[in-house]
Amino acid sequence: MSIQVYVNGEYFPKEEARISVFDHGFLYGDGVFEGIRAYDGRVFRLKEHIDRLYNGARAIMLDIPLTKQQMIEVVLETLRRNQLRDAYIRLVVSRGEGDLGLDPRKCHKPTIVCITDKIVLYPDKMYEEGLEIITAATRRNPPEAVNPQMKSLNYLNNIMAKIEANLAGVPEALILNVDNYVAECTGDNIFIVKNGVIITPPTYAGLLIGITRNAIIEAAQNLGIKVEEKLFTRYEVYTADECFLSGTAAEAIPVVKVDGRVIGEGKPGPVTKQILKAFKELIKNDGEKIYLEE
Ligand code: PMP
Repeated sequence: MSIQVYVNGEYFPKEEARISVFDHGFLYGDGVFEGIRAYDGRVFRLKEHIDRLYNGARAIMLDIPLTKQQMIEVVLETLRRNQLRDAYIRLVVSRGEGDLGLDPRKCHKPTIVCITDKIVLYPDKMYEEGLEIITAATRRNPPEAVNPQMKSLNYLNNIMAKIEANLAGVPEALILNVDNYVAECTGDNIFIVKNGVIITPPTYAGLLIGITRNAIIEAAQNLGIKVEEKLFTRYEVYTADECFLSGTAAEAIPVVKVDGRVIGEGKPGPVTKQILKAFKELIKNDGEKIYLEE
């Protein structure tokens, strides 16, 4: 059976799911989106993802014609129709169909799409051995431009950094902000560990406040590990004891080499391992149930 995709209140087999070529999401990247995970019949932190989506929409003055509760139902119903228990969910809300000008007033109805599919993961080896990453020359767009806190459809900045990672033959790239401080990676947040303390850049460094990032901070605090949100440069990354990334798709993944510098012992460190384990525990009972009868 083909995947069923939600488009504006209806479900279509993926081959027949369509939006207009005049959609401003397509023409201008005018819209917001979310990437969400379901684990064993539960959607991890769905409310937080929906809040982030609606906050982004508010910031760009896009009125989503569904209540948050209705949007939650869209996600759950799409998963049920596809009989998925473990999934990656892509929710997209664009400005909708307009004309060729960029004026959003010409777009009368937002486009809402929900795609649910099986998750494609990094190979196990990467979790066991850790990743090598590089620093991209492309900088994070400053909060005064398209604010990175918003998961907007404008991902070109991140894509350019991803191309740099591809050219270097590594899976991820570190992105600095315009003031030379570490912000995040192309699709993940970053953490370093120094003397037993976990450090991650603060919101004002210019980054997406990851739902996984928040979950990891919580997990660390539950373990009694101190977490600090503060600005740091590449030097602090190079000289850290450990480094790891977090994101919905990657969960938490160790980093062992940055710009050719070996981090710590060059293998996933004890704090990272503890966090990975705690995160796995956290996802077991956290989240909205897909199948109400369970
Ligand atoms: N930063 C960026 C730029 C991202 O695209 C993502 C993935 N959504 C993240 C961080 C991690 O966020 P989350 O944990 O909510 O997936």
